Amino acid sequence: MIVINYGKERAKITHDALKASDINTYLKPEHSVSLKPNLVSPKPSNMGSTTHSEVLEGIILFLKDFGIRNINIIENSSFGQSAKQAFKVCGYETLSKKYGVPLIDLGDDRFVTLKHSGYELKISEKALNTDFLINVPVLKAHSQTRLTCCMKNLKGCMPQSEMRRFHSLGLHKPIVALNALLKTGYCVVDGICGDLSFEEGGTPVEANRVIAGQNPLTVDSYCAELIGYKPDDIEYLSIGKKMMLGEYYSGKTNIVELNGDRKPLNQAKSERIADRYRGQITEDSACSVCYAALIFALHRSDFRGDKICIGQGFKGKSADCPGIGDCTRNFRLHAGGCPPKASDIISFLKSI
Ligand code: SF4
Repeated sequence: MIVINYGKERAKITHDALKASDINTYLKPEHSVSLKPNLVSPKPSNMGSTTHSEVLEGIILFLKDFGIRNINIIENSSFGQSAKQAFKVCGYETLSKKYGVPLIDLGDDRFVTLKHSGYELKISEKALNTDFLINVPVLKAHSQTRLTCCMKNLKGCMPQSEMRRFHSLGLHKPIVALNALLKTGYCVVDGICGDLSFEEGGTPVEANRVIAGQNPLTVDSYCAELIGYKPDDIEYLSIGKKMMLGEYYSGKTNIVELNGDRKPLNQAKSERIADRYRGQITEDSACSVCYAALIFALHRSDFRGDKICIGQGFKGKSADCPGIGDCTRNFRLHAGGCPPKASDIISFLKSI
């Protein structure tokens, strides 16, 4: 099961996504729970690289309703960065005080060396010992692995020296080994405004959604398509599938969409990213999630054709130029879906 929820009330759409999910199949009231966001560096979350504190707030509210008493937030930022600084800059200190949820900088933790598939990895004792790890990544692009989401987010449970060593080990296979050794209980993906091309942020693409599901590989396979990749385009996903860490999402996966009729409208006008592709788009009241999919698709493809139309303003209208989304279903050529995934738009653009 994968749940997607849309909206601007980040804590509420997160809480509601979990309520609609099957997390209660895995979670028990007596569990200790650790939330593992992505705070790669101390940058405000609206830059597209760090997990919004409101998403964690929604999870904490859900857990408290569920009867969970032992909750903490754990993270180790990337090499040379400070999780303590990131907690401050991203508003986690306020969250911690508000709900009495401790913030744990894993850089201060002890690490256990474990072996898997020929790799010896040092992993945080706290992360290993928690009863239930909730993985809370940002859905964003990555300059080396194309996608960073649930599976790659677990790197923050290792010492910084190990994070650097990962790169010398080729990244993809050690990421799989890490996910085999450190089990995720459930995933809640911050798909609010992930970065278009770079894990450190700076080109956020507003999409206003959260995605929840149990298996990190299955959830990542779905999220890969949201930013314009097929699951097999992400090496650690195809390796992880071969090593039976999980299955790709498929037509058999129960996909539950909430607030599909109230997707926030696109406000991405001010972002640099819009400038880069504005000349190719005719937009009329497009939902931000739809516009985001088109931006990711244009960024991954070298489409140089006619102007592309998108938005609710095209409902019931027909035209010869290419259209994106079900709102343009009367066009001669259109990419279906509400919203369409970026990977579907790429296939469509390639086909015309
Ligand atoms: S197809 Fe229309 S209603 Fe659906 S997401 Fe796109 S713009 Fe919104």
